[in-house]
Amino acid sequence: MTSTHAFWLAGRQATGETAFDVTSPWDGRLVGRVSVPTEAQVEEAVAAAYAVRDEFAATPAHVRAAALDHVSKRLLERTEELAQLISAENGKPIKWARGEVGRAVSVFRFAAEEARRFNGGEAQRLDTDAGGQGRLALTRRFPKGVVLGIAPFNFPLNLCAHKIAPAIAVGAPIILKPAPATPLSGLILGELLAETELPAGSWSVLTVPNEQMPALVQDERLPVISFTGSDKVGYAIMDSVPRKHCTLELGGNGAAVVLADFASEQDLDWAATRIATFSNYQGGQSCISVQRVIADATVYDRLLPKIVAAVEAQVTGDPSDAATDVGPLVSEDAAKRVESWVEEAVRGGAKLLAGGKRDGAAYAPTVLTDVPADATLACEEVFGPVLTVTRVQGEAEAFTAVNDSKYGLQAGVFTHDVQTAFRAHRALEVGGVIVGDVPSYRADQMPYGGAKQSGVGREGVAFAMDDYTYERVLVLTGL
Ligand code: NAD
Repeated sequence: MTSTHAFWLAGRQATGETAFDVTSPWDGRLVGRVSVPTEAQVEEAVAAAYAVRDEFAATPAHVRAAALDHVSKRLLERTEELAQLISAENGKPIKWARGEVGRAVSVFRFAAEEARRFNGGEAQRLDTDAGGQGRLALTRRFPKGVVLGIAPFNFPLNLCAHKIAPAIAVGAPIILKPAPATPLSGLILGELLAETELPAGSWSVLTVPNEQMPALVQDERLPVISFTGSDKVGYAIMDSVPRKHCTLELGGNGAAVVLADFASEQDLDWAATRIATFSNYQGGQSCISVQRVIADATVYDRLLPKIVAAVEAQVTGDPSDAATDVGPLVSEDAAKRVESWVEEAVRGGAKLLAGGKRDGAAYAPTVLTDVPADATLACEEVFGPVLTVTRVQGEAEAFTAVNDSKYGLQAGVFTHDVQTAFRAHRALEVGGVIVGDVPSYRADQMPYGGAKQSGVGREGVAFAMDDYTYERVLVLTGL
């Protein structure tokens, strides 16, 4: 019999009246049962977070930094157990799951470092104008209030870490809501936070069902919403609370551009390997996985067979096997959706060069060319192990093709030319341009977020800390 996992209400474990099952997308086995908070328990957590906000903001930096360091250290100690858990509830291959735990270790460490640096304050002279004579301004940042953090299923530990760690670093209480398919990794963060001296009420991890979320989103005691997930849900949240501060980290259909100067055998081998790996890692269920390859006509014919070969070399199968590159998607429904989009593109004239097969929740790594511009696959985020390859003439056409999307999260540009790199930085309507690699590169300390419909605002530990706080100026007179 599987015991029911408690959630974390104002720093302590609690259970509600109902529970739901978390199953493995690979073999359907029960991974855990998770308790659901009642409306009264959600209210208790919000009231506690609201009540503690001034106390938490005033908690000394060394106390908050020590708590963050503690979580980082404990995550490192429990890496293998956590990686197994992520792999079980998400279906992520174990090698990628280990990598995710390593990133969460870093996120908490970065947050501890930033907490020590944050808010040193800045003095600004005002006597540069006659009206400011004898005055001095000091600026410090203060939390905007309690944060509601909402996380997706695809990085169940690290994206919870990206919500919680910056909040603790600035002294903002947080209510974290993990994804219903993968709540267990987020709940472990609660276990580790409970080992710290942070004030009761300053954090909760609540497994609130989606139907109960609108009330939480509307609650005026939670002025900051940090959401990572689909654009559909993200924009619906933002539209429902126009007066709140919303950060939206949404989807993308990441493009990798291969330009004419990236043409040696070694260059194309590198590009093909990186493209194949990062269109398929986590079954393509990453917001910055490679969905579109845009290749210059001078390299296209040599690059395409290398990509197909590298994609076919991806090892698919049981996510708990160390050799597996590509596991299942999060559910059979998700795999069926991907299958239907590929079928639609093929009906419209696309050529299928690899993959195109589904087995339950698993979808084979897939490569297509000649995808019609109006196919769903060309316009939407596939969030599956599928990539399309398009031939273009020259840099300008390549950059136009990247921008021909409603999304704009990150883009990769394979070039050796530094001038091209700067032109790409200027021209591409995305939150990040990765030169010499795929769009899927993310370091957890760098600013991360989207242009266009890929989101609003930035994460990356220090950037999320800015986002959770606002500048308040103190003007001293008579100096
Ligand atoms: P989703 O939008 O279905 O769910 C995200 C979260 O929102 C979950 O916790 C879900 O329970 C919650 N939610 C659902 N309905 C809600 C409501 N009415 N009110 C409040 N919360 C609600 O997304 P998902 O399927 O979990 O994740 C996949 C999506 O996330 C993809 O589009 C992917 O690109 C995106 N993503 C973006 C980033 C980024 O940093 N830009 C990172 C990872 C994933």
